[in-house]
Amino acid sequence: MLDRRDNILFDEIDKDGPQDYSRTYTIAPADLARHEVVNLGPVSITASARKGDLPAEYIAEGSTRFTADFACSRCVEPYPFAGFSNFHLRYRPHPQDAREDAELEITPAELDIEFYTERAIAIRDLAVEQIQLLIPMKPLCDDNCLGLCPQCGANGNREACSCEASIADERWGALLGIREKIAKKRES
Ligand SMILES: [Zn+2]
Ligand SMILES: [Zn+2]
Repeated sequence: MLDRRDNILFDEIDKDGPQDYSRTYTIAPADLARHEVVNLGPVSITASARKGDLPAEYIAEGSTRFTADFACSRCVEPYPFAGFSNFHLRYRPHPQDAREDAELEITPAELDIEFYTERAIAIRDLAVEQIQLLIPMKPLCDDNCLGLCPQCGANGNREACSCEASIADERWGALLGIREKIAKKRES
């Protein structure tokens, strides 16, 4: 039987009315399948669940809080991140067939709708979903992060390397080479 502290059980709401939940989970960064997540502290989630307005609809609202270290997508250095989200979710029975599916109109205001097939929602899964929403597509330690030098790998935020000058030299060298070839062709 599912633990009623770790799962929003729709049958329980039907029987006993609205329910409150407050849990803290240890979630491994590997579970998130995002290599940018270096460390993830305990994840706190509180939620209240009740019946919705439609038949078989349930509503869960609450918040998630955690701290983490993300690797910057430019300089690869880990930096601290504090995550907080409020959520407001509507769970509706999963449409049984495509015809019903086609009749469902989801307007932008209803984008928080999720369809369920089982009458239980694991609160840990809910927490993982909220963390996923909070991880930026390209985490940055700072909007102005200078990143790594593509030549020597030096962190531009900490040290100035002299690669740019030598790249310019190489280009100049290549240009001279082309000139020489052109000159040779003319001679022949
Ligand atoms: Zn950075
Ligand atoms: Zn460099």
